[in-house]
Amino acid sequence: MMLLLPPDEDIAWMAPYAYAVVLLGFFFILFRLFESWYASTYNKPLFRHYLVYRKLSETQRTILEQDFSFYKKLSEKHKKQFCHRVARFIADKEFVGREGVVVTEKMKVLIAATGCMLSFGRKNYEYSLIEFILIYPKEFYSAVNAAYHKGEFNPRERALVLSWADFETGYKISDDNLNLGIHEFMHAMQLEARQSKDIDAVRFGKQFQNILTQLTNQDLKDKLDETRYFRAYAFTNQYEFMAVLAEYFIESPSDFKTHFPKLYNYTQKLLNFTFAGY
Ligand SMILES: [Zn+2]
Repeated sequence: MMLLLPPDEDIAWMAPYAYAVVLLGFFFILFRLFESWYASTYNKPLFRHYLVYRKLSETQRTILEQDFSFYKKLSEKHKKQFCHRVARFIADKEFVGREGVVVTEKMKVLIAATGCMLSFGRKNYEYSLIEFILIYPKEFYSAVNAAYHKGEFNPRERALVLSWADFETGYKISDDNLNLGIHEFMHAMQLEARQSKDIDAVRFGKQFQNILTQLTNQDLKDKLDETRYFRAYAFTNQYEFMAVLAEYFIESPSDFKTHFPKLYNYTQKLLNFTFAGY
């Protein structure tokens, strides 16, 4: 049945607004198309950060300044962006202590900072697949494969699970290429890249493919065998390889670059890491 309304003369005044809305919508679509084109052509997002800046509390910022060396290497502008992202992360995720752990401000700030560091070159920095951060005091029993774990990303539970003891050693010793936080956040980023179609996911897929293609190169394979530069665990499968690669990239960039310049280059592009001396 059609609904017949008498023609309403008064509605004419709305026309310019309707045109404006349509025009705005059109520009928005155009902008999105340009943004995707830009990201795939130049391998980086057009804008990483809009002009919104949430602030951290004094205590939270002091923790960053004292305990998180990456933060100190950032420019003033990047520091503001970084604080905003850490604040958003803390507000958006639920931190849960397990086996007697009382979640402290320091735990929240340092875990959030580690995630935001790895995603700092991206526009989409929020890890939408993570809702809960579960913190155990030390290694914990995981039902996933009936073994003790230091950390895991569990997409079904939407949880990033960490042993606090191992997380702390991971970021405190900043040059041994072991960083539990980075490793697990990379797993979350990988899965998101497979499921999402945003510009960062597309860029991730492209550079990840470049890395995998490199791995089929015989010269590179020989060099990996010969030098044993990356720890053996990296060769478990392609996802572990990428997670371990991220740990080496974050912890000893110049060493990594000297040994494997191409792999370094693709990892740098994948993360769009162009700050703090990387
Ligand atoms: Zn792993």
